[in-house]
Amino acid sequence: MITAIAFDGDDTLWHNEPLFWASTQRFQELLAPYSDPAALAERLTATEIANLGLFGYGIKGFVLSMIETAIQVSGGQVPNGVIQEFLDRGKHMLAHPVHLLDGVAEAVAAVRARGVTVMLITKGDLFDQESKLARSGLAELFDVVEIVSEKDAGTYKRVLARQGIAPEQTVMVGNSVRSDVLPMLESGGWAVHLPYASTWVHEHADAPTGHARYRRIGGMAELAGVLDAIA
Ligand SMILES: [Mg+2]
Repeated sequence: MITAIAFDGDDTLWHNEPLFWASTQRFQELLAPYSDPAALAERLTATEIANLGLFGYGIKGFVLSMIETAIQVSGGQVPNGVIQEFLDRGKHMLAHPVHLLDGVAEAVAAVRARGVTVMLITKGDLFDQESKLARSGLAELFDVVEIVSEKDAGTYKRVLARQGIAPEQTVMVGNSVRSDVLPMLESGGWAVHLPYASTWVHEHADAPTGHARYRRIGGMAELAGVLDAIA
């Protein structure tokens, strides 16, 4: 019996990665005098991942990583104007309108109608994620909102225990195999993978094809059928 359904936020309910792609592209253009585009993107990703333990996930850490990488690749010669543009882009990203993915509002409302506990479990900057949820227009559809710094099996167990919900009775819906699917299965729960157009390198992982509590859907419209089958 399923008593709770949890959703991831970024690239599951609303578009997120495209903002980072656009900023990475501008980063490559501005730093073209110092390095080629592929090497710049690779260097930026490596800096971001190296900084995760200190900055956590989110736009502010991304901006600091752009600045750090720019100073490195330019040998300290990057103009202040370029640094200023990175800061401006970060503010633009933080204030950007929230665009929902297709069928999201309907799917979350339909899940609510099942009478289960509806949760949002998302990772990143607290302030940014709260602001995005408010701008999404979905806030009142969730019974529980958890903004966490990392999504591992321990996180899911803790979050669900706080609500008095057993992982075995919970379905997590998300775009990341690494953050939404594998740790949820490890905690004993169910996981529905809804892949996004593209995944950040750090989130790559092999899908647990064949796992008894794993399902994969191609769009939010397919969620109701999968939940019926699980129930
Ligand atoms: Mg996500």
